[in-house]
Amino acid sequence: MQGNYDLYSQTALFPDSEVRLLWDDFLTRELSHAHERVISGRVVPRFDRGVFQKELATFDFERPREIDAILPWVITQMETGIVHVTHPRYLGLFNPAPTFPSQCADRIAAVFNPQLASATTSPAPCEIESHTIRAVARRIGLAAQAGGHFTSGGSEANYTALICALTQANPKFAAEGTRAFPGAPVFYVSRECHLAWLKIAHQAGIGRDAVRFLGTDGSGRMDCDELTDTIRYDRLLGYVPVMIVATAGTTGGGMIDPLKDCATVARRAGLWYHVDAAWGGALIASDRLRHSLDGMEQAASITLDAHKWLATSMGCGMFICADQSALSSAFGLTASFMPPSARPEFDPYVTTMQWSRRFLGLRLFVSLAVAGWSGYGAHVEKSVALVALLENVLVARGWHVANESPLAVLCLDPPSGSADVRAIVDRVVASGRAWVSATMFEGRDVLRACVTHGDTTAQDILVVADALQAAL
Ligand SMILES: *Cc1c(COP(=O)(O)O)cnc(C)c1O
Repeated sequence: MQGNYDLYSQTALFPDSEVRLLWDDFLTRELSHAHERVISGRVVPRFDRGVFQKELATFDFERPREIDAILPWVITQMETGIVHVTHPRYLGLFNPAPTFPSQCADRIAAVFNPQLASATTSPAPCEIESHTIRAVARRIGLAAQAGGHFTSGGSEANYTALICALTQANPKFAAEGTRAFPGAPVFYVSRECHLAWLKIAHQAGIGRDAVRFLGTDGSGRMDCDELTDTIRYDRLLGYVPVMIVATAGTTGGGMIDPLKDCATVARRAGLWYHVDAAWGGALIASDRLRHSLDGMEQAASITLDAHKWLATSMGCGMFICADQSALSSAFGLTASFMPPSARPEFDPYVTTMQWSRRFLGLRLFVSLAVAGWSGYGAHVEKSVALVALLENVLVARGWHVANESPLAVLCLDPPSGSADVRAIVDRVVASGRAWVSATMFEGRDVLRACVTHGDTTAQDILVVADALQAAL
């Protein structure tokens, strides 16, 4: 076999540098053109699933094809096969148009492909991530020893909070699981919270019934009296409360639970206090608006997704905690095959849920480095101002605002006598002019419009208002 390694020619997978340069250049140019086409086209392209599936079926992976054919094909499918969250009239779920620095960071990370499991083998990336996380923690108002890490998203960050809370409530949880507790562990959220908590409770092995959904006060914020009472009853009945979760920016209405009151209840009850600020946490960037998050700094842990309002590319959450030793207790172990570590408390594979880990934090680091907090502050303030504009235009046309959120999301009841909300939303989406959604807020269907795109203009907002009006 010796000398015959070219039998196993790998040029398709590992082409030489000239070929790479050619295709890198092609991608740079073609992706930029594609983006231009996307923002001047329909927010929701016309997609024919039947045609697409037939074409896809021709990829049997038996005969290799040329990259010349594949890359343009994939770009076309992206242009025609998704709801365009990078369109400035996508007023949707918190999916941003990613910042340009974040896209650059992704490209760099893909080439070097550092393994962030270990700070010993990837010291520079691990230091960059930890520096960025600590900067966010300080901006929130946490003490100097606060830390945390990047996650795949808010769900992983919230899951991390639950594991920390369970481990802190009873260190034997690590070895014995829920059997360590004298009764079933439970935790508290409002009914407007993100429903990923159900999956998280299921995954953690405490079961979906462990999620105690509390009522709201009529404006979409957690009712703290009910919180106090429910904790007391649960204890009387033998349950073991472990955590209170306040949501800072609910998914439907962008409401912020009473953060200080929740902190007080948690402190009195001796419970882990987590603030889920996956979307709304971005408000820390604005000196003018951040006061809405007062009380968040009292949390034991916080979830903040960089891939929402901080607009990095998809799959970039943060788990931030006041005391990092909770993470070592929850995720620590020793593995003989890993490089010996000088400072194990900083090795992500023993302080987080993931093992192999992508350099996600670079996206936020580069974005923050070039924009500063002031640049991000302007970004969130602009979204809030555009939502206020949409509100003014529609209220003048007989629409009613259902939520009173300090964030950039508007929940609306259409003028009386118009079609139901879901029909209006379907018509707007079918028009291709904008993307909005329907959601439940305080028990009824409302229309939901949320600005996360950095390039949405006042003109776009007027087009959205007209599209909504035309759909009544
Ligand atoms: C988006 C969101 C989540 C879920 O986060 P993912 O990043 O989608 O996993 C959880 N909570 C809140 C408040 C959110 O906005």
